Amino acid sequence: MDSMDDLQQDLYRIDGKGYRAYKDIQGRRYLEPGDAGFVLHVDYVQGDPFAGPSRMRVRVETGVAGFPEWVSSSKSRRVGLETYLAKEFAAACQTVSTRAGSGKSGKFGNDRPGQEVVERTAVMVTEDAVEARFFVGLPAQGRRVLGRAAAAMLGEDLPRIVAESLLYRALNGDQIREAVEVNEDADALRAGLAEQKLVAIVGDGAVLPRRSGIDQRPMSGEEVRAFESPESLRVTISVPNRGKVSGLGIPEGVNLIVGGGFHGKSTLLNALERGVYNHCPGDGREFVVTRQDAVKIRAEDGRSVTGVDISPFIGTLPGGKGTENFSTENASGSTSQAANVVEAIESGADALLIDEDIAATNFMIRDRRMQELVARDKEPITPFIDRVRPLRDEHGVSAVLVIGGSGDYFDVADTVIMMEEYVPRDVTAEAKAIAAERETGREEEIRALELGKRGGRIPLPRSIDPARGRKEVNVKTRAVDVISFGEETIDLGAVSQLVTESQTRGIASALVWARGRGIIDGKRSVGEILDAVEEQIAREGFDGIAGGRPGGIAAFRRHELAAAVNRLRSLRMVEGRG
Ligand code: ADP
Ligand code: MG
Repeated sequence: MDSMDDLQQDLYRIDGKGYRAYKDIQGRRYLEPGDAGFVLHVDYVQGDPFAGPSRMRVRVETGVAGFPEWVSSSKSRRVGLETYLAKEFAAACQTVSTRAGSGKSGKFGNDRPGQEVVERTAVMVTEDAVEARFFVGLPAQGRRVLGRAAAAMLGEDLPRIVAESLLYRALNGDQIREAVEVNEDADALRAGLAEQKLVAIVGDGAVLPRRSGIDQRPMSGEEVRAFESPESLRVTISVPNRGKVSGLGIPEGVNLIVGGGFHGKSTLLNALERGVYNHCPGDGREFVVTRQDAVKIRAEDGRSVTGVDISPFIGTLPGGKGTENFSTENASGSTSQAANVVEAIESGADALLIDEDIAATNFMIRDRRMQELVARDKEPITPFIDRVRPLRDEHGVSAVLVIGGSGDYFDVADTVIMMEEYVPRDVTAEAKAIAAERETGREEEIRALELGKRGGRIPLPRSIDPARGRKEVNVKTRAVDVISFGEETIDLGAVSQLVTESQTRGIASALVWARGRGIIDGKRSVGEILDAVEEQIAREGFDGIAGGRPGGIAAFRRHELAAAVNRLRSLRMVEGRG
């Protein structure tokens, strides 16, 4: 193997040449010896200073990195550590001087984690090594190689970044301990939910509100009200490091969150929605933990829907169009919400989170007066209020519903939580008493709730086509909520449990992998495809679904992968079965 000195010599040699001369170092490895040593892998070199930056990796051997054994003795701990190191690496990239040049010249960067702790390829800790993946804008003057600047970047700056961010002795041991212990505790809480038959726990002392709609950091200041559980719903779960965590236990079943406007209902539901992920120390939601398979449901008018049986919610449409195999290019509020529920259950959701702020009113409720005015046979919608009990009782799917506007829901609720100036109160008994006293006069609009009676939906392979023009695979993400997939654009704007573009990249890679490997074969159902992707990642890691050892992939749930498939406008299902 060549040394970093050889690399610097090579870079001096190509100084002033055309930019493509940098390609000489692509695919090579260089050894930096010494007690802060590493191996640099140059995986990809950009062809142009204005193109996407070059991708590289450093691997620091375990003995050199010097982390004590306890930091990665479980997967939970390891992911906590990796997330911490990825942030430290990002911070160190910022501190090295930016060398001038054109395009993206002179910059180091990596996939910096935000508030959520999700497994990423940015930093991976294994038994042998700590590996950090990053990008570099190799410096240029116009379109000429700035060899000396590049030699300084890779030969001087990079060893400094490594020494500052990947070696235990250079880092804050207390912060590392906190990062791994908090993550381990959060995973333990999630594991403890099922045993106590809970959908979620909201730890006492948690800070739920965020700085703004576009800033996920915690709100700060005197007006912030820390979370305080009502005694009747307080639960305690033992965790390995902190000992015990107490907080509001949201039970399995049908839960309502009620309360006046601006009293913190949506803030609580949003925290639950994000609680499917762990959070970093200092976030305020470290102990707000939701079941893995809780899925946020909303109305999403305009989305496409392919071959979904929405008949449990929406019967025959005007004109006699059936809804057992429903497709549309442009769903309405209610049909989109119905499709979102059915698809979530198809991907394995065991709890649905719904906020009235973004739900379709006619999907949620029809009151007595409306029942009288609009005859049953003129209304295709069976409102969710008549579906939520059978969903729970027959299919084991719980619900957490923010409902400030309809007391009719008291009849179907198991638990009613009222937010009052950001403080939750258990008002179940009061709500039940009111329900007993004042009947709604509603007629229940029940038809049998059969879900998935047609069996799994089977995507037609050629309808999931990553090709565009002469390129067999032309797929990339454009934001956390946009995948450009072949000639299609997948809009994930309503899929709010995607938290980073790195997850979206993972989903895009998974689709390309599943298509390329013949997993999407016209025989497997959507559920079986999701299983196959999960199995592949479990077996071979994210490199098993994405070529080129990318540093910008993060773990995603099967629900969001399904959401991307389901929103592909070219999607078609295999017809004529059963
Ligand atoms: P609702 O859904 O009940 O109308 P929101 O959840 O949207 O209310 O909250 C209203 C406002 O109160 C938001 O601006 C939010 O940031 C703020 N807020 C929510 N919870 C808290 C809290 N615990 N402490 C301080 N402010 C909060
Ligand atoms: Mg609200």
